[in-house]
Amino acid sequence: MANPVENSRKIKDKALELGFLQAGIAGADYLSEDAGRLSSWLDNGYHGTMGYMENHFEKRLDPRKLVEGARSVVVVSQNYCTREKQLDESAPRVSRYAFGKDYHQIMRKKLRSLYVYMEKQIGLHSGRIFVDSAPVMERAWGHRAGLGWIGKNSLLLNRKHGSWFFTGVIITDLELEPDQPVKDYCGDCSRCIDACPTNAILPGKVVDASRCISYLTIENREARLPDEFRGRMQNWAFGCDTCQDVCPWNNNAHSHCETWLNPRPGLLELSLGEWKALDEAEFDRIFKGTAVKRTRYKGLRRNIDFLSD
Ligand code: SF4
Ligand code: SF4
Repeated sequence: MANPVENSRKIKDKALELGFLQAGIAGADYLSEDAGRLSSWLDNGYHGTMGYMENHFEKRLDPRKLVEGARSVVVVSQNYCTREKQLDESAPRVSRYAFGKDYHQIMRKKLRSLYVYMEKQIGLHSGRIFVDSAPVMERAWGHRAGLGWIGKNSLLLNRKHGSWFFTGVIITDLELEPDQPVKDYCGDCSRCIDACPTNAILPGKVVDASRCISYLTIENREARLPDEFRGRMQNWAFGCDTCQDVCPWNNNAHSHCETWLNPRPGLLELSLGEWKALDEAEFDRIFKGTAVKRTRYKGLRRNIDFLSD
């Protein structure tokens, strides 16, 4: 017999057994609180050149438009916290989530194992896995599923693990027991807002992605970065961790123990001179299998050159 409470516990136990940091459950309801926020974010053009964000507005907000008969959203997180650092402090910087293997494929594989478990042991009939791959608002679901609150930097964070984690989602037709959203513990802290080098963090937990270094160095495909950001990049060549580095909830986060997330050989050792001289063959060798490959050599070269112009 279906027992939502017992089944929810089994799914969470299995997720932890698979090495996920946390797992939580939300009802597959319309994200009504996020509708207005998303709409005004788009109207303000904060998505920059990410035109795809304008597509599938209703699907982003309603999981039942992605999975027919959806009743629950299972959200998992994967720790990528590391204290390892690039050795040359003057070298162009890479966001720490990209030190090791690209998380998308591995998260998918682990979620696939969870999905199969849910099919065989719990009776899932239909569902879909999402890892940053379709119109799914993973952070909003993470909040609803009790994995954390949305910080002023718009990231999902919690008191125990900070914000150094990826999230993935399974939308399913299973009836499960929803968790309670976590209270907001940002309080009157404004460290991320004060530290953001490009003033991308706006009041109301809004990030203007078109000003965010993560967007500028990864998603933005224009041939040149805008001049107004010259001298303000804090040496970031791929992504940016500044608003997470300063967040007090990240002080006690513990490091991951996943070998696939360990830095690619040679990545942390690259000196400023080697970064400047980086050619395509070396780019392929050093960044093989990492998320840095998303920019291709051309994009990373653009970013490196912008830092030293
Ligand atoms: S990632 Fe960097 S640029 Fe983007 S909001 Fe955070 S501190 Fe600002
Ligand atoms: S730095 Fe402060 S305001 Fe920003 S997310 Fe962390 S706790 Fe919240």
